Amino acid sequence: MRINDQKQEHTSSYYAASVNEVTDYPVLEGAKSADVCVVGAGFTGVATALTLAERGYSVALVEGNRVGWGASGRNGGQVINGISGLEKIRKKHGGRIDQMVWDLKWRGNDIIYDRVEKYGIQCDLKSGWLEVATKPSQVAWFDDFVEEREKYNHPYKYEIWSKEETRDRLGTDAFHGGFICFRDGQLHPLNLCIGEARAAHNLGVRIFEQSPVTGIEHGERPRVQTASGYVEADAVVLAGNAYSLMEPKHLSNLVFPAGSYIIGTEPLSEDVVNEINPRDIAVCDLNEVVDYFRLSADKRLLYGGACNYSGRDPASIKSYILPRMLNVYPQLKDVRIDFEWGGKIGIVLNRIPAVGRINRNVYYCQGYSGHGVAATHVMGEVMADAIGGTMERYDLFADMGHFRLPGSQWVGNQIIALGMLFYKMKDKLG
Ligand SMILES: Cc1cc2nc3c(=O)[nH]c(=O)nc-3n(C[C@H](O)[C@H](O)[C@H](O)COP(=O)(O)OP(=O)(O)OC[C@H]3O[C@@H](n4cnc5c(N)ncnc54)[C@H](O)[C@@H]3O)c2cc1C
Repeated sequence: MRINDQKQEHTSSYYAASVNEVTDYPVLEGAKSADVCVVGAGFTGVATALTLAERGYSVALVEGNRVGWGASGRNGGQVINGISGLEKIRKKHGGRIDQMVWDLKWRGNDIIYDRVEKYGIQCDLKSGWLEVATKPSQVAWFDDFVEEREKYNHPYKYEIWSKEETRDRLGTDAFHGGFICFRDGQLHPLNLCIGEARAAHNLGVRIFEQSPVTGIEHGERPRVQTASGYVEADAVVLAGNAYSLMEPKHLSNLVFPAGSYIIGTEPLSEDVVNEINPRDIAVCDLNEVVDYFRLSADKRLLYGGACNYSGRDPASIKSYILPRMLNVYPQLKDVRIDFEWGGKIGIVLNRIPAVGRINRNVYYCQGYSGHGVAATHVMGEVMADAIGGTMERYDLFADMGHFRLPGSQWVGNQIIALGMLFYKMKDKLG
């Protein structure tokens, strides 16, 4: 079977246009051997490979396109604590694992801050992420956020902003208030992913680009096959997320690709920046289907949202997203739009990352339901733990069980689209 055999360069995003390093790792050719072979060089794959390399494993990282080519190099760059579905895991176990779940929630942020510093990665990392209420009813949620932080003695600063403060600091009347957390933040995701891959490479990880994996021969030492070579390893980690078509017998209809889209304006004048975001924070609304925005390092407004669950991309991303941006910032109606791009997030029905094993030694970890910049980093660590035999956190996810929709992936996407229509309507109602 030929899968994912269309090798591609980066999509034409703002990130690709402002990248620090254009990667050019070799194509996988001939026979290679490693302790662990990781498939997919997005955040999940790179974080897994880097953690394993830090622990002394020999690792091969095989990417079909380029490092960070998938969602990891295209996303909103919002560093958000937590892992989708974590609350369901906590509830299943009762109070016993509360502290472990709380630690998991923030571990991804810690890993990002540590690695950026340790490896000197230039990725415009800034602290401050604001959740804004689009409806008065959402303002009440801020008290819950505070209560949870106080319960666990959360050491990081946060603030609640009133409607007036939010309007003054964001230059828009669109919101009813905000909750800002200073342990969350924003960054240039492609530069982070490429910087982490460089750190892994410097620790000995062999990275192969433009090398789509066509199949796996399972066995004592599974063989990861590409058109021109293979890697044999003691363990394999599949980290292809929404772009993966691998192992359909086990993994099809588990993670559903949904499109999310971003536009980038021309660099804004100092006056406009002072009006719409003088504190330079990342912003995301509290709806089920979110809109999110922030300023780039060169002061473009990067505005994203409008998830498309049907699997079909809009004819024009700009026409799709611009009205949403102008709804928040009508004063930007004359700015030029320099970039428009999209990517695929991996939706899981119960919203819990799909983590598990096909056979004893082939692992998979995918499906962050659009909330993966920080979550992928902790999951990379969880996968590395599992390979080393420490199963505690891995088992929390692997034991959750996932429902696979019957029928084709296309049918599954239409069912998800219908479900999300309900949430979109709910978001619109007060
Ligand atoms: C537009 C957009 C905006 C988003 N905004 C945010 C945000 O602001 N904050 C947030 O937390 N999350 C956000 N997300 C989600 C986040 O980006 C993802 O959850 C995360 O990047 C997933 O990382 P990953 O490594 O699992 O998958 P990906 O980054 O998609 O990487 C998978 C990689 O596997 C490779 N691959 C697949 N199959 C094969 C194969 N057969 N052989 C070899 N390689 C293969 C692909 O080429 C790809 O490079 C957003 C996503 C999108 C699309």
